[in-house]
Amino acid sequence: MATIAIVEDEISTSPPTPSMFAAPDPDINQSSFDRNETIAPILSFGLITDIHYADHDDRWNYVKTHLRRYRNAAKLVNEACNYWLNGKYPISFILQLGDIIDGICSTNKTSINDLNMILEQFTKNFKSLPIYHIWGNHELYNFTREELINGPLCSFDTKDTSPAHYGTFEVCPNLRIIALDTYEFSALGIEHDSEAYIQATELLKKHNQNEQLNDPTGLRGHQRRFVQFNGGIKSKQMDWLKEQLTEAKNRNEKVIIIGHIPIHPSACDHLDLLWNYKEVLDLLWQFDGTVLAYIAGHDHDGGYFRDRKNIHHLTLQAIVECDPNTNSFATVHVYNDCLLIEGVGRIGTYKIDCQL
Ligand SMILES: [Zn+2]
Repeated sequence: MATIAIVEDEISTSPPTPSMFAAPDPDINQSSFDRNETIAPILSFGLITDIHYADHDDRWNYVKTHLRRYRNAAKLVNEACNYWLNGKYPISFILQLGDIIDGICSTNKTSINDLNMILEQFTKNFKSLPIYHIWGNHELYNFTREELINGPLCSFDTKDTSPAHYGTFEVCPNLRIIALDTYEFSALGIEHDSEAYIQATELLKKHNQNEQLNDPTGLRGHQRRFVQFNGGIKSKQMDWLKEQLTEAKNRNEKVIIIGHIPIHPSACDHLDLLWNYKEVLDLLWQFDGTVLAYIAGHDHDGGYFRDRKNIHHLTLQAIVECDPNTNSFATVHVYNDCLLIEGVGRIGTYKIDCQL
């Protein structure tokens, strides 16, 4: 029995055309920040992703296009925390969107030390600030799901969701965060003789004929997403998401959704898309007006797209691939009539209109 529905459509092997999606419209409005100087937001919070810390010398990524500066990543996190500490408005929490340490830590057998080292960059600056973590593929290269659930990267009550890790919390009246586990269905972090591993591998092999399942050679367009470093969302989490969105809509709340893997083909490289992105998009589109944004990491070059249902898809640039003297994090300032996302370094600045 299929664990997730892979819905293919007419655009599955070719890039989207303007008639299929709204034209890109970043709605970047620097002047909107003028009032940031005088009107305090309801609250602010931090966003950071793909830190990939490792106590390891810098090395090129797989395709040799970007240098991963592993130790520099810790310095940049510390810098981000200092920025938030000295900002005009205090932040209330941080969202860390996954890949906090790199897979190389597992090879070096330094996963726990390296994780503690990077978490310390947050805790030495913020003694008791909540940090909500979600899990990327690199968490699953370093730890099993059981280890993650029992460790410092578990941010949600997993009593009813284990071994998956997803949850929700209220940011302020009428605004909610929903955090997804985009590797609920995957071949990572689980025993190779488990039913879940067998099913995920079967799905991959159906779409990807390469010997190495991380290799997209021969795959075209959206089909390139069928690689082992991606994953999908199972029906149990889909049902939960629908329930959460229905309740939010009934309460007249707005929702920001976060997940490690992006879900819109125009907001990332197709190689980095969720396996069942279309199914999730279709669900979110039933709740247009409620869902304001989907914020992800995973594609280290980042991306942005406002879709035809006015949902803003932000894929945030990775910390680990920052050139020297730059950084990559953002602060979200929540106002009654908009969210102002103030990026630093590689991340842009965005305004999302809403009525809270
Ligand atoms: Zn990453």
